[in-house]
Amino acid sequence: MTHIPKDHPRYASLITREKIAEGVQMGITSLQGLVAQGRGEAFDYLIGERTIESAAIAERVAVAYLLVAKRPVISVNGNTAALVPGALVSLADITGAKLEVNLFHRSDARIHRIIEHLKAHGAGSVLGSRGDARLYLSHERGIVDKEGIYTADVVLVPLEDGDRCQKLVEMGKIVIAIDLNPLSRTSLSATVTIVDNVTRALENMIHFTKEMKKNSQKQLQEVIDSYDNKKVIADAMYAIQEHLKNLAGREGIEWI
Ligand code: ATP
Repeated sequence: MTHIPKDHPRYASLITREKIAEGVQMGITSLQGLVAQGRGEAFDYLIGERTIESAAIAERVAVAYLLVAKRPVISVNGNTAALVPGALVSLADITGAKLEVNLFHRSDARIHRIIEHLKAHGAGSVLGSRGDARLYLSHERGIVDKEGIYTADVVLVPLEDGDRCQKLVEMGKIVIAIDLNPLSRTSLSATVTIVDNVTRALENMIHFTKEMKKNSQKQLQEVIDSYDNKKVIADAMYAIQEHLKNLAGREGIEWI
């Protein structure tokens, strides 16, 4: 990994980039994953590389859903495996969710490499290699495990593809997406849309789970019932606009 000095103004963003590049070198992240990361970085820049208030609300609601779920599953792709393997394992552990590897550019070798990578970060069993059930999609992301995503009631899909997100929602599942683009098809179709970097979102969710685990089912249900996903998406767009206005103001550029 290239040495990035801690006092570099773009330290967090550059470390994330390094981790993704390392993921490609290790054969767990696809080349296309690099491009997806680039799009994410651009949106993160626009939002100010911070967790906005509405994202924290969505993260709490996501945790409430995971804690009331009967069969929660966290879907793992090549980008999240490279960026946040330890956090994925921790969140699965404390919420009782299963981990399942699911890839757009699927190959048995890459699935096994990701499973081994998660195990090296402390995971017990990881689903995804069976592929014994199918969502009705024309591409390979439709291949899932019967005892995982196929029969899950709540699915956390960090960095999801829009078609699959829509399909999971159509199947009656609660779908929690983490996506920095508030306007992606994934963001617009998920039940809960977390507009935050996956690196911050998972850490926040681990923190909230530790707090909310003590809550009763009734209290968790109240958190869920008070939630409005459209408002959260609108708030993310507003946050981007305000951040840009502030940047412009700081540089003496008139906002028209
Ligand atoms: P959709 O099919 O939902 O419209 P898309 O085609 O725009 O999505 P994909 O290539 O399927 O995008 O997935 C990449 C998505 O993940 C982008 O919306 C991007 O903003 C987001 N993304 C990339 N990196 C991160 C990250 N580190 N944290 C959160 N979101 C990210």
